[in-house]
Amino acid sequence: MDTPLRPSSILAEKLAQGNLPASACYQCKKCSGGCPLTFAMDLLPHQVILLSLLGQEDKVLSANTIWVCSACETCTTRCPNGIDIAGVMDWLKEENLKRGRTVPQPEVATFHRYFLESIKAGGGRASEATLVRRFTLFKMRRKFDFQELKENMKLGWRLFKRGRLRLLGSHAPKKQAEIKELLRLIKS
Ligand code: SF4
Ligand code: SF4
Repeated sequence: MDTPLRPSSILAEKLAQGNLPASACYQCKKCSGGCPLTFAMDLLPHQVILLSLLGQEDKVLSANTIWVCSACETCTTRCPNGIDIAGVMDWLKEENLKRGRTVPQPEVATFHRYFLESIKAGGGRASEATLVRRFTLFKMRRKFDFQELKENMKLGWRLFKRGRLRLLGSHAPKKQAEIKELLRLIKS
């Protein structure tokens, strides 16, 4: 027999404090209806919101959904109640890492970390070349797959030819003060 669910408002309160209030959700499922990645998720976006509101931290923090989510924000745009579902997914990812929990998809978590580190090092702009190099090395250390490396090199070359992959750093973006504050908030 399943353990009875014990609702708690703690997670919902934490989300509200993080400027991610979700209590207006009435489970219309428009978020899940528009999400392009539900085929790979173990919990649908509206279920993540519902379980978060019920305080089921363990269930949402263990879900592979939060790592599958690509932050495309379709769900956030579609929500009739202005709930930032994509923001909730990001918050849950960060919370998962802060607590040192096991990550179901270590590759996604590592890419997330490298991306943030690259943004921090670049004063707000990620270095694509550094990101690709670090992530490729990480993947090769886990499992060397020559075929995958060859495919990635071909893809990298195509992106480079189209100007989508810069080898040299580009100018730091404007509004450095705001970016520093954002990075500080991510760190805290
Ligand atoms: S679209 Fe908004 S209100 Fe509807 S289920 Fe998703 S989060 Fe809840
Ligand atoms: S932000 Fe994430 S949950 Fe929302 S629609 Fe995009 S992939 Fe789906």
